Order: sequence, then C-alpha cells, then structure tokens
Amino acid sequence: MNLFYIRAYVSLDKAQKMSFETKEKDLLARIGKLKTRSGTVETPLLFPVINPFTQLVPPSRLKTEFGFEAVITNAYILRKHAGNQPAKNGLHKFLGFDGTVMTDSGAYQTLVYGDVEVTPREIVEYQEHIGSDIATILDIPTGWKVSEEHARQTVDETLRRAEQFQQFKVREDILWVGPVQGGKYLDLVAESAKEMSKLPFDIYALGSPTEVMERYRFDVLVDMIMAAKMNLPVERPLHLFGAGHPFMFALAVALGCDFFDSAAYALYAKENRYLSETGTLRLEELEYFPCTCPKCAKATPRTVSELPGKDRETFLAEHNLHVCTGELKRIKQAIKDGRLWEHLEMRMHGHPALFQALKRLKKYQDFIEKSDPSTKNRGLFYCDSVGLMRPEILRHRKKMAEKYAPPEKPTALLLAPQTQMKPFHKSGTFKELLSKLPEQLRNTEKTHVCFYAAPFGVVPMELDEVYPLSQHETALPLDKETVEYVAEQVSNYIRMTDYKRVILVNDKENWNNTVMKACKKACTQKNTRFQYINMHKNTDKASSERLRKTR
Ligand SMILES: [Zn+2]
Repeated sequence: MNLFYIRAYVSLDKAQKMSFETKEKDLLARIGKLKTRSGTVETPLLFPVINPFTQLVPPSRLKTEFGFEAVITNAYILRKHAGNQPAKNGLHKFLGFDGTVMTDSGAYQTLVYGDVEVTPREIVEYQEHIGSDIATILDIPTGWKVSEEHARQTVDETLRRAEQFQQFKVREDILWVGPVQGGKYLDLVAESAKEMSKLPFDIYALGSPTEVMERYRFDVLVDMIMAAKMNLPVERPLHLFGAGHPFMFALAVALGCDFFDSAAYALYAKENRYLSETGTLRLEELEYFPCTCPKCAKATPRTVSELPGKDRETFLAEHNLHVCTGELKRIKQAIKDGRLWEHLEMRMHGHPALFQALKRLKKYQDFIEKSDPSTKNRGLFYCDSVGLMRPEILRHRKKMAEKYAPPEKPTALLLAPQTQMKPFHKSGTFKELLSKLPEQLRNTEKTHVCFYAAPFGVVPMELDEVYPLSQHETALPLDKETVEYVAEQVSNYIRMTDYKRVILVNDKENWNNTVMKACKKACTQKNTRFQYINMHKNTDKASSERLRKTR
C-alpha cells in the first residue's frame, strides 16, 4: 500500500469525519443526517448491493434515476476479482458511482462458503486502500441453525477481531462498522452489543438476520434487534445487514434501524419474483401490476413475461428498486407526521408472521416509550386493541399513576363517557348531559369530572385538551380488550384516589356495563359510595330522578 497516500488521510481531523444528527423521531425511528467523506446522506437509508461483475442496473443510474444516495459492495469479491484495479482511480470511479460507498468484508461469504481466504487485517487494509466511505471489519456471522456454544465462539471471535482492528486501522476518514453477533441467542446479542459499544465504531450493525427473515421469524428478529438496540449507544446509527424486503422496512425502522442493505431486488428478480410493500408476488401469477412505478406504468405482467431472460430480470430488478424507495419515502413521511405506528400497523397486517412480530413489541413498550416524542404533528388513529401498545397510551398510564393528583376540593368524582366531539368537556353531548344532572354535580368546587375514554382510560377534564387526549380518532364499536383496558384504568384510578362519592354515567351501548361493574367493585373495596345513571334516552330521566332521590 502507498504510505504517502495513507498519511494524507491520517492528518485529517477526526472531528471533521463523522457526525450523525437526528432531525425527526417517532417510536425508535429517526430521520437523521450522516456525514460521510463523499457527502451527507439521510437516514433511514437503503444501500442496494452492487456486484460490479454481474450488475444489471448500472450504479450511476441508481443515483440519477432511482435516487439512491449510497450503495454497498463486497470488498472480498472486489479484492478477489479486481485486485488493485479499484484503488487506481478510487473505488467510486471504478464503480461509476459518485455517492457514498459502503463495503462489506466478506463475512457473509464466510457464512455461505465457510472460511474466506483473507485475513481480518488484509480486508481492513484493502478497504482503506480502495477508499471506501463506510467499511466493515471481517466478523464471524453467527447464522441460524447453530448451537449456543458455536454462537458464543462467533461473538468472542468477532469481538477479538474488533479489538485488534483498533490497533491496525490507519485511516481516520472512513466510517467503520462494528458488527454485533449472537443470532437467536438474545443474551449473547446483548453481550456482544455491550462489548462492541465500548469500542469506538462510527456505526454498529446487527449481523446475520437474513436467515431469520427468510424463515419469516420476524418475532425473533424483533427480539434480536431490541437486544442489540438496548445495549448500543443511541447516538450512533444501526445497520441491519441483509434486510432488503420493503414489507419489513417499517418494522425495522420503528425499532431504530437506520441502514439496510439489499441484494433482494436483484436476487428476487432472477427468480421472477416481484417485490411489493406488502409481500412477494410471482410474475406468472399476476394479471395486473399493483404498482405505478415508471416501469410498471408502461407494461403488463404478460408483456414482461414475454421479454427475453435478461430484459425480464432487469425489468423486475428496477421495479423492485422503485418499490423499496417508495416504501422508504412513505416511512419517512410517516415519521415526520408522527404517524409511524399507523403505518406500521398497516404493514404488519400484510402477513400473520409480521403481525406476530408487531405483538412482540409489547415486551419492549417501556424502552420504546422513553424514546418516542411526547408531542407529534398529527393525532392518533386507534383501530383496535393492538394499538394499546402505543407509547402514548403507556405514557398516559404512567403519568396518571405516578404524577397526577386530582384537584383538592371536590369530594365527588363524576365519570362521564367519551363523546364523539373532542375535547370532551366542550362537546354538546357532555353539556347536555351535565344540564340534566343535579346542581351539586355541576359544581366544580364539589365535583371533579373525569371522562372514561378509549384508548387512554381516565381523562381528567382539566387535561382533556393536552396532546394526545383530544387529538385522536377511535373506531367504534370498541373491542373487548379495549373496553376491559379502560375499565381497569378506571378501577385503578378509584383505588389510588380518595373521593367520598363516585357517580358514573353509564354508556351501556358502547361499554356494555363493563366499566360500571369495575367501578362498582373498586368502590366496594374502598368503601366509597357508588351510584350510576344510565345514559340511554328513555332511562335517562328515571336515572336522574333516582340519583336526585338518593343524594
Ligand atoms: Zn413497479
């Protein structure tokens, strides 16, 4: 290697080198800016995998036509087939791509073909030599069907190489990737992430999730990503290796993955498979293209089937790339709007295996809630009890349990049902209801009004304009789990407060007496006086009368 060439880079100030700045957040997702030697890229970012020796879509077109700011290629393959060639005029010229170029180390080849004929040091030096913008050390992927003992060895050896690498790396202007291993053994993934985060890598990556994804074990993938994410420095980007199917981008982004690389667009095209943001389709089974990308707009499945082999493959590869960029743009807009959860729910309904993964998020609710912003640009859409995992709902529950104190004076609690109009206390329905109640219950000095409402539970009147308690839409009729959740919140609230009297306006139509029964039980346990009035029109008058008499 040319020493002069290396020294010129060493003198660069490290501070100039890299910065990752978060612009927008939603769940664990972020829109960020990463400065690389070849320009600043925006995350979440997909790196299409390019193989300069078999590439169907030229890299220059990936940038100009498809808008990809970065690509990834394999340093091991480059070294084997091109040797010094990429170093002569630089890697970017060699590839014909003037954006950010990431190189992988050949670790995947280790997994597929066994050992690679290159040492960890050689592959690091090679990546420095050819001038990658982002480069990867030669780790040992864990794989899927392996014993815990083998998994442990891959973690230890990857870590040993990562430590050694710090001694022999020369260039300071390359962003280095520290891979986290451990496979499905979550304790090992957590340990690997913890140890790796002690080393000064610019980017961390979760290794070998490809087989997990191929087996549709997205629930295990959630566990793996979270085991890594919860033990890595939050201010550094996280790359998910080998994740290239658009139907799971939303899931990975929501869990805090910033980068992906995809060979899927090309591999699937080879097998006549057509990617969509909700799954994989086979060209021969399609009558219509469910896509309006520039390729699909001008063709039909039949005309594409009749194309000669390479042309058909190129068509599918290009469509597959368009789908990937389209989905990433939708995800970014959803992050900006604070609607990533809604987008995620929509995508996870695409396949039961994805839906199973969404349900797994419950396990990580607390961690997600801490990162999720407390106000967002748009309100929430609540469709069914799957939404109960949302960070906004957990946050309200925590606030009510840990921070909220009801006003001091009132001794009575009036629990009124949610109204269609929001804020609840300004709605005509509530005002009308109030007008029918005895004077004492209308007096805020004597009575504290709270609403029972889906999906948040108890909403004190004085807070019902605070985001997101009025900024949400809920689908009726409520499902059983939602009704039970709200009933539980109401009963918890009664247990933790000291009202002398609780009056419930019972909306039997929407709540099926469930809230009323929970309320009654909590009051009995606390020895608090409990009364209810039914909301239905024909019983309304009679109930009010009964209430008046029992005062
Ligand atoms: Zn298309």
